[in-house]
Amino acid sequence: MITREEIAEILKTYDLGKLAIGTLGSHSALNIFKGAKEEGFKTVSICKKSDAIIYKKFPLADEIVFVEDFSELLNDNVQEKLRELNVVLVPHGSFTAYLSTEEITNKLYVPMLGNRQLLHWEADRKKQKKWLSKAGLKLPRTFEKPEEINRLIIAKLPGAKGGKGYFLANSRESFHKKVKEIIKRGLLSEKDVAHIHLQEYILGVNVYPHYFSSIIDDDVEFLGVDKRYESAVDAIGRIPAEEQLEIGISPTYTIVGNMPITLRESLLPELIRMGDNVVKASREIAPPGIIGPFCLETVVTDNLEIYTFEISARIVAGTNVGLGTSPYAYLKYGENMYMGRRISLEVKNAIKQKRVNEIIT
Ligand code: AMP
Ligand code: AMP
Repeated sequence: MITREEIAEILKTYDLGKLAIGTLGSHSALNIFKGAKEEGFKTVSICKKSDAIIYKKFPLADEIVFVEDFSELLNDNVQEKLRELNVVLVPHGSFTAYLSTEEITNKLYVPMLGNRQLLHWEADRKKQKKWLSKAGLKLPRTFEKPEEINRLIIAKLPGAKGGKGYFLANSRESFHKKVKEIIKRGLLSEKDVAHIHLQEYILGVNVYPHYFSSIIDDDVEFLGVDKRYESAVDAIGRIPAEEQLEIGISPTYTIVGNMPITLRESLLPELIRMGDNVVKASREIAPPGIIGPFCLETVVTDNLEIYTFEISARIVAGTNVGLGTSPYAYLKYGENMYMGRRISLEVKNAIKQKRVNEIIT
């Protein structure tokens, strides 16, 4: 495991006046780069050749480090190049999707904004549950075995990227029938069936609040909310029930995009407290706790109960809906604050106060 002392040593070799913000060219990279530039930093994209067109259209990357595959971030020559460029990496969803959290905590010798240890907690469903319970959040029930299914559940495939192949079942029989179909579609192998996560399906609407835990200001900020646009589940309502039955359609949850939302003001106190409590709990499980952006994935029922089914201990792509501004960022900052910029503002303040070591690991 790479220690904070080792990262502090690397930081000593950096020219803080030339610090650059770097990340993998995907997910929320444009958000992160735009924010970095608005706060006066250079930007470095670790990018696939086929995606470089993005930076031609949106010239936000001062340097591009080309890779064939995001896992090359771990290569010595890539890491060396990033250190030469004084890069602080900002992790996002593609880091955990294309690298293992062990690789991130053991092999990536480039300073990273955020708490790497918490990426383990995010990636492991059991650990997540422990963390969120410790914070006192309401969680959907989980079922250990298909035999226990006694209500509608959502079955989450191990390592699924963006909800791909998730399905619903309301009994052991329907579960096994659907598993067979999913295997046939090539989304799952027999040996992974035992690792499918079975979670109570909460009937309600998705609400994804975005927070920023500032070490420098000692505060947890509430900066925005989004909901997701998922294929095919968001398309099913366009087909009448009769035809749905005829073609045996079942919902899947591949993320395609996000939409901004504002909430009933009466929901805000609980959501704000939830963010505070998650940060408090994180300080106990992995000191110094969350550094920077995080997001809770919740479902709100018609009783206005808020169930949390997941946490992301890093920037989420849903914050892209707040580029420019979001209603909640506006309330605190006025115009032109958004997650990518808030991250770089924290780095800027940390440099000013000579506290950069406190926000990187
Ligand atoms: P990508 O680099 O697009 O493959 O995304 C990396 C990971 O982040 C995948 O697990 C995606 O499902 C997730 N992701 C990407 N974009 C979004 C989004 N707009 N909202 C939520 N999750 C996303
Ligand atoms: P995830 O990959 O865990 O973010 O989940 C993908 C999508 O599945 C979410 O955006 C929700 O639409 C849905 N979902 C996940 N868990 C639940 C749940 N326990 N109850 C209802 N919907 C859920």
